[in-house]
Amino acid sequence: MSNSTIAQEIAKRRTFAIISHPDAGKTTITEKVLLHGQAIQSAGTVKGRGSGQHAKSDWMEMEKERGISVTTSVMQFPYNDRLVNLLDTPGHEDFSEDTYRTLTAVDSCLMVIDAAKGVEDRTRKLMEVTRLRDTPIVTFMNKLDRDIRDPMELLDEVETELNIMCAPVSWPIGSGKLFKGVYHLHRDETILYQSGKGHTIQEVRIIKGLDNPELDEAVGDGLAEQLREELELVMGASHEFDQELFLAGELTPVFFGTALGNFGVDHMLDGLTEWAPAPQPRQTQEREVTAADDKFSGFVFKIQANMDPRHRDRIAFMRIVSGQYTQGMKMKHVRIGKTVSISDAVTFMAGDRERAEEAFAGDIIGLHNHGTIQIGDTFTQGEELKFTGIPNFAPELFRRIRLRDPLKQKQLLKGLVQLSEEGAVQVFRPLDNNDLIVGAVGVLQFDVVVARLKAEYNVDALYESVNVSTARWVYGKDAKKLDEFQRKVSANLALDGGDNLTYIAPTMVNLNLTQERYPDIQFSKTREH
Ligand code: GDP
Repeated sequence: MSNSTIAQEIAKRRTFAIISHPDAGKTTITEKVLLHGQAIQSAGTVKGRGSGQHAKSDWMEMEKERGISVTTSVMQFPYNDRLVNLLDTPGHEDFSEDTYRTLTAVDSCLMVIDAAKGVEDRTRKLMEVTRLRDTPIVTFMNKLDRDIRDPMELLDEVETELNIMCAPVSWPIGSGKLFKGVYHLHRDETILYQSGKGHTIQEVRIIKGLDNPELDEAVGDGLAEQLREELELVMGASHEFDQELFLAGELTPVFFGTALGNFGVDHMLDGLTEWAPAPQPRQTQEREVTAADDKFSGFVFKIQANMDPRHRDRIAFMRIVSGQYTQGMKMKHVRIGKTVSISDAVTFMAGDRERAEEAFAGDIIGLHNHGTIQIGDTFTQGEELKFTGIPNFAPELFRRIRLRDPLKQKQLLKGLVQLSEEGAVQVFRPLDNNDLIVGAVGVLQFDVVVARLKAEYNVDALYESVNVSTARWVYGKDAKKLDEFQRKVSANLALDGGDNLTYIAPTMVNLNLTQERYPDIQFSKTREH
């Protein structure tokens, strides 16, 4: 493939994730987005809670039972002239680490807000994460088929609470039973809503112009007048869309609609595919890598086991940062200094795994992992590069894990180390005894680990409480001082799944005292892979 064709392929890519509070409608809108991307035949196949159908991304029993997404999956589909990669983020407030790392692999985000509720807690937290990289944000105000809050007030709340300017692109006409449709400010047309058509791509009636008497006839005099008045206010009080401010993450275009009614989702997608950035550069320890670099490079942001129970494998998700992947190509696995030939990477067209023959910067590919790949690993065509910014977070919850059958110690350790490589949990082995301590950021992780140990490693394990309340990775430049530190506090030291030295503290007070006592030792709350 010539360089200019590669450049064209890359320019087509749009890679994004959805951020929202649980129940705001992320799953529903994903479904409709895929419907518009012609990735699925009829909406309703992504997740049907209790209906017997489950999401293509629902692969774990846990997820089906609890109706929450604990996994990340990737869906690729064409839309307009673009090729869209949608990365699913776990919705539950546990697993924030996974979500965080997924957000390092996208170039823009769609923020879905329940318009009856406004800005909610989880959205606030996720927005904080996107602010770290100034990721461009598109906003969808959802559930217009219900009685919503005053739209002006919603925009105001987004602006003040999330500190981002709002540029409405569409404006709602009524809501709930009186929801009539939206006026598209950029197209100067009203698109009329019909209820009960959510499973299809609707044929819509469009009325050109705001002063068109057809509008009054279609939505009623009252609502038409109200729309005109509101728009005058809106134009005065809110911001106009500005591409530069959007790309800088300072302004978000706002769309109104209903995911369930599949209305307005296409307006949002039109905007997103037109304005969202093509694959963006990423930083390495050595230099910035741009998508247009000739040579292939990528980083692993996620490892997932047994996505398909029939395959029983583990997949490492890699974001391609530059160049092109072709089947059978040789890649350097930088951390271990080995060159490997990759012939069976998978793509995620519409959620079905297919063998990837080629993929480009902006795409996500899945590599079969037999235990050598870790989160954060860099792959290149030979260059020594290390992508940065893909951290582990010090866990906040700890349990000792114990076997029911003591003969399976080896499998237990293997399972825990593999699960920690995936980032599903963290494991600590104290230097001074044979305990195994599991550390998590969210409490649900503990259940997931025991369930997976049983299902995948045939190990029956249970938890006991342990006197650890916080952990820090420790580093020391001065080998002698580090050595002394290790001898003095060995009772509180452990190795994590990757053999990194960790201080595990019974209390915060203990941690603070130790930090004061050993000023030459660095205690870190995050660890870069
Ligand atoms: P998630 O937790 O963010 O993935 O949210 P879901 O997509 O599962 O939606 C949560 C609930 O809200 C479900 O019962 C959906 O059917 C419902 N829902 C989603 N979008 C809409 C909408 O536009 N209108 C209404 N009335 N309900 C919706």
